[in-house]
Amino acid sequence: MGQLLTSTESLDISISKELEAQGVSRRNFLKFCTAITAAMGLPANMVAKVAETITSPTRTPVIWLHFQECTGCTESLLRATHPTVEELVLDMISLDYSETLCAAAGHQVEKSLNDSATLNEGKYILVVEGSIPVKENGIYCKIADRTALDILNDYGNRAAAVVAIGSCASWGGVQSSSPNPTGATGVHEIIKDKPVINLPGCPASPYNLLSTVLYYLTLGKLPQLDGKGRPRFAYGRLIHEHCERRPHFDAGRFARQFGDDGHREGYCLYELGCKGPETFNNCSSILYGDVGSGAWPVGTGHPCFGCSEEGVGFTKYIHEQAEIFTETPPAYYPGIADEKEMGVTPGSAAILGGIAGAAIGSGYMAVSRKNKLEAEVTEKEE
Ligand code: SF4
Repeated sequence: MGQLLTSTESLDISISKELEAQGVSRRNFLKFCTAITAAMGLPANMVAKVAETITSPTRTPVIWLHFQECTGCTESLLRATHPTVEELVLDMISLDYSETLCAAAGHQVEKSLNDSATLNEGKYILVVEGSIPVKENGIYCKIADRTALDILNDYGNRAAAVVAIGSCASWGGVQSSSPNPTGATGVHEIIKDKPVINLPGCPASPYNLLSTVLYYLTLGKLPQLDGKGRPRFAYGRLIHEHCERRPHFDAGRFARQFGDDGHREGYCLYELGCKGPETFNNCSSILYGDVGSGAWPVGTGHPCFGCSEEGVGFTKYIHEQAEIFTETPPAYYPGIADEKEMGVTPGSAAILGGIAGAAIGSGYMAVSRKNKLEAEVTEKEE
């Protein structure tokens, strides 16, 4: 007589079989579940529940609409690999309609869109990629002879919730840049009586979509959102707070030109226009691009241009310097500056930044201002 199995052990075995069928090792899968549970801000005892949700045969219906966009968010999701994020997302949901992925076309696919919305009224999740032009009654984007505005109002109001994926759907994105000729706008400006979750980014991180869907399916409720409709677990902190170059910022070590010594040494990119200090996203903590450590824009040496922040990405010039909200480095940051060379410690530099009362709070800024002032005083004295 075999031993009786606990429910956790039974779950473990069924998950292992499921994964084996998908060619994903159990070890990698559990590592992934642990990481994504932490990323959602859930306690460690939720890992088994998250794993169960991912492998559950129940599928939530999803309708995915494309409007004014480049399909970059879909491409980003489909190109994700560790461990097959796109498979996890697509396996957790029943993707009833997606213009990019549907094999059918024309009247046939439009019928499946309408059938799914009618059958699953009030139960499906609507994912919207792309901004919605509202000028001239929305004539600048039409699909199957209907404006994007009309389609969104129709399917948005019949959905359980709406996910605006990418900066275009969240707040208009690049199409809404001045003078915004089509009146490009975000989903939340149009759908008012349904929860709209914004997942901005250009493209949005596929992990943020996965975490949001997973959160909803695991707990049966939407994650806590911030004032801009973004999940707090993903957009609760500035990129600057967890950036791998932050110790250089605090120590006053900056790249001043692309390709200069500082740039090659991996110094802070603030002077090259990095918008990390005013952009809320988790790129610096979960990384981005899915091609290994350091593979996110700032990691590769390009300043963050604030693609996910309304009023920053596609609004401010790329070279324009960001506003600093976090002047002083967290106490737990290690000091990396050569104190003799810099003539100031990271801590004292930050304090000087605060004393200077400048909008720019970096120690470097304070030190360079101090040096300039001293030079001016010496000049006058002479
Ligand atoms: S300014 Fe940019 S590169 Fe520098 S620490 Fe902040 S986020 Fe990182």
